[in-house]
Parts: sequence; structure tokens; C-alpha cells
Amino acid sequence: MPLKRTEGSSRRQGRSKPFNALDLSDNPELLAAVVDTVHESLLVLDSELRVVLANRSFFNTFHARAEATLGHPLYEIDNCRWNTPSLKRLVEDVLPKEGSFEGFELSYTAPGSRNRVMELNARRLELGRGRQFLLLAIDDITERKRSNDALLRANAELSSFSYAAAHDLQAPLRIVKSYAGLLAKKYGSRLDAAAAGYIRFIQEGATNMEELIRSLLQYATATEPDPGGKMEIPLKNTIERVLTDLGALIKKEAAEITVGPLPIITAYPVQIRQLFQNLISNAVKYHKPGIAPVIQVAAKESPEEWIFSVRDNGVGIEPQYQDQIFEPLKRLHGREIPGSGLGLATSRKVAERHGGRMWVDSRPGAGSTFYFTIPK
Ligand code: ADP
Repeated sequence: MPLKRTEGSSRRQGRSKPFNALDLSDNPELLAAVVDTVHESLLVLDSELRVVLANRSFFNTFHARAEATLGHPLYEIDNCRWNTPSLKRLVEDVLPKEGSFEGFELSYTAPGSRNRVMELNARRLELGRGRQFLLLAIDDITERKRSNDALLRANAELSSFSYAAAHDLQAPLRIVKSYAGLLAKKYGSRLDAAAAGYIRFIQEGATNMEELIRSLLQYATATEPDPGGKMEIPLKNTIERVLTDLGALIKKEAAEITVGPLPIITAYPVQIRQLFQNLISNAVKYHKPGIAPVIQVAAKESPEEWIFSVRDNGVGIEPQYQDQIFEPLKRLHGREIPGSGLGLATSRKVAERHGGRMWVDSRPGAGSTFYFTIPK
């Protein structure tokens, strides 16, 4: 599509210098320069799939000669390396029907060089008098894929390491807890007040550590590459279960919770439950002193995704912390409100694991709304 000419549309230019956007169709030299300057390799094919235009990047990347490329069918150029069944299917079946395709990966091997991965985007063009062309943009994504794969591997190792470490810490902790309990039970009457206090500290410390380990295990599971077992979940049931599990806390704080209509989504059930549990328990925990929590859970639909929200009337969050709270172990509160600082980090990972996002909208003193999306 030619660029639109926009006259006098830029305020910054002032009145004396009207702004004229360039129209590529009036400037063939500019068009040729753009085509030759872009980093991606570009090919234009006619309706017989013959190459009618190739840019400089194509010739350089594939060490192709103009005379062996221009005018030749796509499947014959470059020693027939583009003659693959999947590319054929895309060019001959998908493109005529859909008009475009994006992100098609193709493995490409030139003699004496390593296997490379190319990403292809394509569009069907009709240029006057019904002449049909195909535009193919080819990007070498080998390095991007390699570093992405390395990152995924490193993340997977890290999450299984944290899972194993957290898991193995449970056994010695159980011993500390049970022997502290035995000490208190069997010898409590013979201990002075200070010694009884020390034992209580040990027990409290062990209970806090238990909570931290449980949160660490959740965090490690949320960052696992593929926990397996996505299924259809009626979220109404999920929330009912969460509210039952949080029953004691809700009752203690006299929280009033309303839940709007919720959809059925396809997701990892345990993770989604943890996510709602984290958001709702935070909404209850971080209430304003002396004011009972009022919380609304809701879902909104857009064409591509579900947008969920958990709104509270709590203490709110200062703007400078609204991003930091999603980092692991970041807490804005002290011991007076129990927590591990891993709930929101886990929840955001869960949303991202499902292809969604999570963010907060909050005003200190007025309350917070946590949002997350799940693609349909
Ligand atoms: P925690 O286990 O401490 O609750 P989270 O990761 O869930 O850990 O939350 C991180 C911090 O963000 C909390 O310690 C709290 O200071 C703040 N926070 C989370 N949710 C809310 C909320 N609804 N209102 C106010 N502050 C919140």
C-alpha cells in the first residue's frame, strides 16, 4: 500500500514548514533503495512463481548470482534449495487462499556450512490490471533461535534445581519442627520462661520456612517449561475452591467478596488456582487498618483474550513499587503481615506461561486492581 501523503500534519514543524510524507509510488529510486537496504532478504515472484525481483541481501546471504536467479522459478534457484514440500504447500495452497502467511520456519543448508533456520513472511500482491505477485521476506533467525533455546534450557535447569533444592529442604525442616515440638511437650514444664521462648522462636521460624518452601515450590513449578496437562476449567468452580481454602482468612478479616460471571478456559488447573488464590489472599491481607476488605473478581472478554481482574479497597501501592512487586521476594510489608514475597512473581509467571500478561493499577490509600489476561 503506498504511503499516504500527509500535509501540514506535524505540529513540531511549525506553520512555515509543511510536512509532506513521501509517496513510494512517486519515487521509484526511493523504493529501490529501501528494498536494497533492508536487512531481510526479499524476493518478488510473478504468478508463474518466477523471481522478478531480488534484493541485495538475498544475493549476499545466499551467494546467489543475478543471472541464475532473476527469471528463474523459485524452486529451481539456489540449487533447488527452496524446493521443499512445506514451502510448496504454503506458496501454492495457503497464499492464494489466505493472502499472506507469517513466521514460517525453514531449515536451510548450503554446502560446507551449518544448518541454518530461515523465517519466511509472505504476501500476495495485486499490482494493477490484475497482475498477481508474491512477496517473500526471508530472515536468518539461526542465532536468535539458538540463544532462545539456550535460554529456555538454562531456565529449565534453574527451575528444576530450585524445585529439587526446595523439595529436599523439607525433610530436615520437618526434623527441626518435630524435635522442637517434642522438647516443648516433654520438657516444657522443666524449662524456664526464656528457654520456652527460644523453643517458640524455633517453631515459628520453622513454620515461616515451611511457608517459604511451599511458595518456592510453586514458583519453581510455574517456571517449569511445560508442566503438562492443560484442560478445560470452569473458573466458577476454581474460585469456589479458592474461597473455601481461604475461608479462615476471609472470616478473620470479615472480607466481602463478589464474583462476576466467569468463563471456561483452557489452562493448567493447579497454576490457575494458585494465581487466583494469590491475588485474592493479597486483596484480603493488605486491607486498610480498621476497614474490612471489599473485593470484586471479574472477567471481561476481548476478541483475542480474557481479561481478569481482582479489585480491592486496600492500602494500595505507591507508583514506584507497582512493577517491583512482581519480582521474586520483593515485599513492601514487614512480618506483621505474613507472606513470602513470591506470590505475585509466581502469578505473573503463570499468566505468561499461558501466553498472557499481568499488571496492577493502584492508588495508594484507595485500593488496587490486579489484571491478567489469558489468550483464547
Ligand atoms: P506476599 O507473600 O508478601 O504477599 P506477593 O508477591 O504476593 O508476596 O506480594 C508482594 C508485595 O506486594 C506484598 O508483600 C505487598 O507489600 C504488595 N501487595 C501485593 N498485593 C497487594 C494488594 N492487593 N494491595 C497492596 N499491596 C499488595
